[in-house]
Amino acid sequence: MNDSIPERTAGSTAQSVRESAWEYAPAPERTPVEIADRYGLFIDGEFRSPRSRRWFETVNPATGEALTKVASGNDKDIEDAVASARQALPAWSRIGGQERAKYLFRIARRIQERARELSVLETMDGGKPIKESRDIDIPLAARHFFYHAGWADKLKWAFAGATPKPVGVCGQIIPWNFPLLMAAWKIAPALACGNTCVLKPAETTPLTALRLAEIFEEVGLPPGVVNIVTGAGRTGQHLAAHDGIDKLAFTGSTEVGRRIAEAAAVGDRRLTLELGGKSPHIIFADAALDQAIEGIVNGIWFNQGHVCCAGSRLFVEESIHEEVVRRLEHRMASLRVGDPLDKNTDIGAINNPDQLEKISSYVEKGQAEGAQLHKVNNQNLPAKGLWYRPCFLTGVQPSHVIARDEIFGPVLAVMTFRTPEEALKRANNSPYGLAAGVWTDKGARIFEMAKRLEAGVIWCNTYNQFDAASPFGGIKESGFGREGGRHGLRAYVRL
Ligand code: NAP
Ligand code: MG
Repeated sequence: MNDSIPERTAGSTAQSVRESAWEYAPAPERTPVEIADRYGLFIDGEFRSPRSRRWFETVNPATGEALTKVASGNDKDIEDAVASARQALPAWSRIGGQERAKYLFRIARRIQERARELSVLETMDGGKPIKESRDIDIPLAARHFFYHAGWADKLKWAFAGATPKPVGVCGQIIPWNFPLLMAAWKIAPALACGNTCVLKPAETTPLTALRLAEIFEEVGLPPGVVNIVTGAGRTGQHLAAHDGIDKLAFTGSTEVGRRIAEAAAVGDRRLTLELGGKSPHIIFADAALDQAIEGIVNGIWFNQGHVCCAGSRLFVEESIHEEVVRRLEHRMASLRVGDPLDKNTDIGAINNPDQLEKISSYVEKGQAEGAQLHKVNNQNLPAKGLWYRPCFLTGVQPSHVIARDEIFGPVLAVMTFRTPEEALKRANNSPYGLAAGVWTDKGARIFEMAKRLEAGVIWCNTYNQFDAASPFGGIKESGFGREGGRHGLRAYVRL
């Protein structure tokens, strides 16, 4: 494998990769997806026009074209949705776990049956590569409903010795990076435990949540059990501030999370926050390099780096720094950037213009602070749409803004270390604590690092592994509470 990577001569990497990379013929996913002219709010089991009388466009970031119009919910719409969830609560909690499990199971099956359509729609609305929506987002969303169908009638075994009761009406606010999956993470455990929900999807990616509402209709979910109110940040603000909410679950930026925490600090309302990150990889000289590079590249390029747990800081043991840089350049150069509906695409469109602007300005700041940019991918990009080529920066200092702030794009900050102690200290030197990756051949070192790294999730010799049975969440400014597994259920029951 080592021999297959050409030696680096100045400026040669991109060209040699271009010459040696296989040429792929276009492989667009052609499944047609019906999109209506506009979508109302899903309240009390039906789609209805917003009381705000306002609508907004959701755009395909790969083409710049508007896909459809979506209702923009205001405070009155939130009021209706919360009232509907409140009304549905007693019957839904009383029907019992066995009945609720059947609904969850049917929802999971319908997601599977409509998987192709949901994947295409997710990719069109959000810009992520079809191979990710098809192989990760949608199957995992189904998996979350299946998994929680399994718990619904076994809750008293999940919490031995206690009698679990629903918390009540749950307000749930989600971001644009994993639209359907985040909806599933929030809705499935809530329903399993007998709660009802009001969900606010992100402004730029509302379409798959609305398809999920159609699935709720198809499976006959009782009206009001889940209500979906689309809109922008303002709509989320109304939901977070509503005093009829018993539990609020928020996934998004740390900045908005702080505001939500303030708004939620009333009464005995429950709160869970899944926030941003600046997750470190630590790669030791004894690591299996091919595997590590693949994991590191995947950790930062996956979903254009629009991933809360993206491994965006890389700490390399000094003796292998040059080798790692060479291999990273080689791998980054061969990533396919472009049409997200093409099945060969690795990096799709950046979700929205603000995010694109944010990514570019961080990379400029990094260079201005003295870091060196490695941006060797020069494959052709589509003429329209929002694109950012994968890149990394070396010579990054811990004080640099690109080493501290969450960028949320395919941008990796590379730093070095000499001793495990130094690696730990530098990796933990962050206000965030969502995830971390350790790459080494030594088992004892893995345990030592995992014990001392400050992160909610730690992967060793792998990265970005998710499952419904495995709790996910952060510490420090990455939030609190867990989603998935038995830990995730805990937020949705009173004992
Ligand atoms: P965001 O701006 O915080 O938005 C998240 C959600 O909150 C969206 O639905 C947003 O609506 C809404 N919102 C915005 N302002 C609000 C307010 N004042 N009150 C109530 N709701 C409000 O985050 P984003 O840019 O969409 O997503 C990226 C962030 O999410 C990153 O920081 C990432 O790390 C984090 N994230 C964390 C996890 C995790 O599990 N820890 C998972 C995924 C993402 P609009 O979209 O309409 O503005
Ligand atoms: Mg969109």
